[in-house]
Amino acid sequence: TTAIVWFRRDLRLADNAALDYARQHFERVIPVYVWDPDSLGDWSPGAAARWWLHHSLARLSERLSERGSRLTLARGDTAKVLGQLLDETGAEAVFWNRLYDPAVIQRDQAIKKQLRESGYEARSFRASVLVEPWELLKADGTPYLVFTPFWKQLQKRWSPPSRCPEPRELAGPSRWPTGCSLDALELTPKLDWADGFSDRWTPGELAARRRLDRFVEEAVADYSEQRDRPDRHGTSRLSPHLHFGEISPAQIALALEASGELPGGQGRLSYLREIAWREFSTYLLYHYPHLPDQPLKDQFGDFPWRSPSEYRADLEAWQQGRTGIPMVDAGMRELWQTGWMHNRVRMIVASFLTKNLLIPWQEGASWFWDTLVDADLANNTQGWQWTAGCGADAAPYFRVFNPVLQGEKFDPQGDYVRRWCPELKGISGPRVHQPEVASEQGRSYPRPRVDLKRSRQRALDAYQAIRKA
Ligand code: FAD
Repeated sequence: TTAIVWFRRDLRLADNAALDYARQHFERVIPVYVWDPDSLGDWSPGAAARWWLHHSLARLSERLSERGSRLTLARGDTAKVLGQLLDETGAEAVFWNRLYDPAVIQRDQAIKKQLRESGYEARSFRASVLVEPWELLKADGTPYLVFTPFWKQLQKRWSPPSRCPEPRELAGPSRWPTGCSLDALELTPKLDWADGFSDRWTPGELAARRRLDRFVEEAVADYSEQRDRPDRHGTSRLSPHLHFGEISPAQIALALEASGELPGGQGRLSYLREIAWREFSTYLLYHYPHLPDQPLKDQFGDFPWRSPSEYRADLEAWQQGRTGIPMVDAGMRELWQTGWMHNRVRMIVASFLTKNLLIPWQEGASWFWDTLVDADLANNTQGWQWTAGCGADAAPYFRVFNPVLQGEKFDPQGDYVRRWCPELKGISGPRVHQPEVASEQGRSYPRPRVDLKRSRQRALDAYQAIRKA
């Protein structure tokens, strides 16, 4: 008997429910990855995420080869490709792990139906979340819209999975399907922009596990104090690994449980809380599939944003890290150079774009989508809507982040800003956060594009307009 395991964003061998099921119940397993961006609607992976995907597939392929198996790569319409592979190999079943992006759900349901109607076994499994989004509802049967009660329920409902260790060997067919080469998927960008990513990141399951181990050993105990400091290495940087499923939230939760920190230790709990925010974002996207394009709070549908012709130049300055606001520019340059940005700084640059520059959050979300190695439809949408004030459990609209005060508080010596804006290296200490000081003393550093106080007031006035309406 032969089964196909259709890999997607679960690029790991350990704790992989679909793979585990296939090898327990079938004699031969054929691991497959299909590159089918058209099936993902407007949200096929952006350039930075494709860079990651390319390298992650290479690692997975190596790990499968070490176990006597092989990763078959293909591109094209997934349903057709799977159909051809079933014909070619004589396999009887297809297994995969569930994802919750709206276009993916639609595609997967259609494929499942089609396979079953054609007489194949088709089954999906839970592997990328701790609890299925449909399993957590309020007493009245509706979804949670506030994080804290969701988090309480999640803690009650989650039970550790039975461990699925990674296979040492994986039996395959005597003749493997043809497939295509990794390069034929054309995932890596044509520009040399992503070249520097390899200095910073090592995609793949083993690197993810090493990063988790190091974080648990060295940083988790101080996580609650350090997590807001972009000038330190206080967070795990596991986000791209989690997005591509090189590590699962269950593996993380189990590693934390096994760690030396006392149960209920502040670092561990506060880290799990962030994993739960990931869970909450996925949950919201599942229950409200329109969120990537439209605000959760309806009233924001009429928000008086500036028009594209008014904001184009400001948007470009923001994208290029040349707004004249040092903390914002440092974040945007970190993003461009490394494909990642610290969470605190993501909130600062997002607040600046949507409130001080009055540019629709969708513009920012779309730039992040293309440039983040961890670009994730659920987390990105939730992060932008939260900061713009229109999402679930959002920051109250009047809390406009002041990037200067935020910089002084979370980058108190200005080290983060100087690292990413080298033209400000000559300005010592926290003075580097002051836009006036930066543009006067920094070499060719731009003047601020907006006055922070006046633009804050403009945002509050815009908000009053929709409140009154
Ligand atoms: P850690 O602090 O080590 O947290 C561990 C994990 O928990 C993260 O890897 C992530 O999976 C999850 N997590 C942490 N914070 C959040 C959060 N606020 N919301 C949801 N999950 C969270 N995260 C993405 O993974 N992809 C995105 O596209 C994305 N876009 C964002 C856009 C904006 C405007 C904002 C404000 C936040 C966004 N986030 C996104 C959430 C967060 O910034 C990143 O997950 C985090 O910075 C990743 O770094 P880390 O792995 O070191 O996080």
